[in-house]
Amino acid sequence: MQILRALEMGMCFGVRDALAVVDRLPTPATVTIHGELVHNREVLALLDRRGFARSPEAGREVPTTPVVLVTAHGISDQERQRLVAAGKQVVDTTCPLVRKAHEAAQQLAAEGRRVIVIGRANHVEVRGLVEDLADPLVVAGLADVATWPQAKLGIVCQTTTQVEVAECLIAAIVAQNRHADVRHIDTICSPTKARIEALLALLPSIDRLVVVGGHESNNCKQLVLRGEHFGVRTFHVEHVRELQREWFDDAQAVGLTAGTSTLPRTIEEVHGWLSRLGAERRGRSA
Ligand code: SF4
Repeated sequence: MQILRALEMGMCFGVRDALAVVDRLPTPATVTIHGELVHNREVLALLDRRGFARSPEAGREVPTTPVVLVTAHGISDQERQRLVAAGKQVVDTTCPLVRKAHEAAQQLAAEGRRVIVIGRANHVEVRGLVEDLADPLVVAGLADVATWPQAKLGIVCQTTTQVEVAECLIAAIVAQNRHADVRHIDTICSPTKARIEALLALLPSIDRLVVVGGHESNNCKQLVLRGEHFGVRTFHVEHVRELQREWFDDAQAVGLTAGTSTLPRTIEEVHGWLSRLGAERRGRSA
């Protein structure tokens, strides 16, 4: 049984840099992590053990600690001002690619366009994007697409949106708003695209796929869907403990990939487990 790793996988620079800032904070008990830092329970448990407070719902209440850490998903300027006005020291780890999405949305608004955000309305990044916009629209699927009266529309995407989903929704928006001038700025982040492309390159060579990362992680779910659509038996695990030997009965080649918030250590633990299983089977058949 061969183990084939996707050429691009695992933690993106945005999450890695945010975690590095968190690691350097000297007094965790004085800091609230505002909005979920990563969709990875292992990382969140580590932060809890270090003593950080967490307010997963950024924008609901001003945290009580003197220091507030803005996560890689970012927040709205309105929310940032609210924290500063409340006397909080803001440590900002917003990913530069999320900042670009905010700039793109503001640019479209400045052109007089009603801004449409393709993404999940309840996702922290999307909430941050729309809070600074007048009369924004959020489109999660085809059911949300309508004919709007504005003559100018602008489209941006949540950074982790699947390219095909974005293309399908943009085409539907254009088709239903032929009266309007529609401009789209591509805000899907390059690490997300690279992980998908690397997986697509791997899929023809494997008969099992293991996706490592948080069960709530949007980009892990996308990786799982790609495997399943390709017809490869796909397993999504958050931790090595979830792996089951029988999943790999008769497997010839197991592909390995991981989401953008998965710790390198977790990937290596899963790889080690698979390698040991492969070696054991080779030993038995020798
Ligand atoms: S997934 Fe993309 S946008 Fe989000 S933190 Fe990582 S690099 Fe930044």
